[in-house]
Amino acid sequence: MKNIAILGSSGSIGQSTLEVVRNLPLQFRVVALSVNSDIVKLKQQIDEFHPKLVCVSDPLAAARLRSSLKSSVKVFCGREGLDELVKDKDVRQVMVAITGSAALAPLVSAIKNGKEIALANKEALVMAGSIVMRLAKEHKVLIRPVDSEQSAIWQSLGGQDVTSVRQVYLTASGGPLLDLPRSKFKQVTVKKVLQHPRWKMGKKITVDSATLMNKGLELLEAMFLFNLGVDKIKVLIHPEALIHSMVEFNDGVMMAQLSVTDMRIPIQYALSYPKRLANPLAGIDFYRLSKLHFAKPDLGKFPCLGLAYQAARDLGTMPAVLNAANEASVERFLARKINFLSIPKTVEKVMQRHSRIIHPNLDQIMSADNWAREEVRRLTCSLN
Ligand code: MG
Repeated sequence: MKNIAILGSSGSIGQSTLEVVRNLPLQFRVVALSVNSDIVKLKQQIDEFHPKLVCVSDPLAAARLRSSLKSSVKVFCGREGLDELVKDKDVRQVMVAITGSAALAPLVSAIKNGKEIALANKEALVMAGSIVMRLAKEHKVLIRPVDSEQSAIWQSLGGQDVTSVRQVYLTASGGPLLDLPRSKFKQVTVKKVLQHPRWKMGKKITVDSATLMNKGLELLEAMFLFNLGVDKIKVLIHPEALIHSMVEFNDGVMMAQLSVTDMRIPIQYALSYPKRLANPLAGIDFYRLSKLHFAKPDLGKFPCLGLAYQAARDLGTMPAVLNAANEASVERFLARKINFLSIPKTVEKVMQRHSRIIHPNLDQIMSADNWAREEVRRLTCSLN
């Protein structure tokens, strides 16, 4: 029986993690849960999974939850509260499923406390990949990726050293706008962008799939997780999203990981590694599947991917700036303050204005992040 903490339990990955636990009640026990503010969902989860500790980031929501609970669960709030969760001696593995840069502090703390990490959040690695990986090495913590592409690379590598890798194909479904002509991008609505053809995910990541920034963030994520040079990673459009990524070794042999498009598969593997446990999902039916498609991504149509490659070459504080500028622009788009084409335009402008620090510490990364968000606010206010 493994005791786990789920940070971000009301989100898409958090809920899928609970489904995995629900199916494997003899293997996993939930001892801690955290949400940002959704205490309605958290209450249902407390009733079903009986955690020992919970954290609600929003202090007002935390107070409301405390006054309405009958059970003996301890309720923490804010960043300090998350720290209590990841430090707890009963927690063996932490699922980091918080979206955005808010995951960085609890991730670092969980590593320093020597917890096993299942990492679903990509922004923390993008921002501070070299620091996070160095800390993980120091504390002998293996970071088990949950992102389907990173899980695929991890599984395809099969423990081989990166020096035996010729290149990695990072596959991309292409998102909801793959076949829409670029001339229509300016008018594209939030609703249309949120209709992803293959994956059911949170709003921010679905917008990132539409701009291909999601793949750009995954490029950076893969570089840090597997210590790969940027030129060894090729993005490959694969609309069926059955091959989740592939590794080509020096001898030309390729290993790919395939499975049905369901996040419960990589989540479960991150929890159960090195074991492979049963799940109720059906496999791929190759008799019914006639074709798989592949294409080179169109960087003219999806400039965000090109910007991510640029940040991956620049490194230092640039990936943090790319990430923060993107996060803030996507927020503005979801709030219907800017149009779809303004997302890459804004990110590019902010990157151009940034004075990069080559070997930043965590404070410098956080201030680059804050600076980039402030720049987006300034640029997009003058747009309106
Ligand atoms: Mg992914």
